[in-house]
Amino acid sequence: MSRRFEEHPFLVEVGDLRRNPGTRRRIQLAGRLSGLAVSGSAVPDDAPVSLEALLESVHDGILVSGTVRARWRGSCRRCLKDAEGDLEVAVRELCVEHGDEETTYALTGDQLDLEPIVHDACILDLPLAPLCSQECLGLCPECGADRNLEPCACAPATDQRWAGLALLTGGDAEGSPGELRRKDGGR
Ligand SMILES: [Zn+2]
Ligand SMILES: [Zn+2]
Repeated sequence: MSRRFEEHPFLVEVGDLRRNPGTRRRIQLAGRLSGLAVSGSAVPDDAPVSLEALLESVHDGILVSGTVRARWRGSCRRCLKDAEGDLEVAVRELCVEHGDEETTYALTGDQLDLEPIVHDACILDLPLAPLCSQECLGLCPECGADRNLEPCACAPATDQRWAGLALLTGGDAEGSPGELRRKDGGR
């Protein structure tokens, strides 16, 4: 395998497909990519990203349909502890030579680099506000205690300051205004 292919794990040779419109080929690739990060989470540089796809030769290029998978890590937006999960993104993209960059991906001769497709799929699916679990109780906005570990003595539901704020913002004065509103309002 040439050096070019080793450095580009998602580069595939598609000369056979291009010369035979209507044919298809299944591929399974995996590699490491850098720069897969959004504000709340990332696929670590040393974590593998995989692509399982069907390449189909269509008259003006190659149609790629498949699934991108990776493991992401981040910090929980409620309790700030480590959070992680799996990305599984369905892709269906057309790769053509001299195509519209907004709607298609580039194809250069007999070589097709699927890295931009894998990259974009990960970026679009990475969680901006990850949670360690859907049930995470978060940190107490009053004392900062991790409410997943133990209940603290604070009672936000009866805190008059926040009850007033809830009325002003049209919220439910009976319930707790909650940490989310407080955090968002403090921005
Ligand atoms: Zn959490
Ligand atoms: Zn507290």
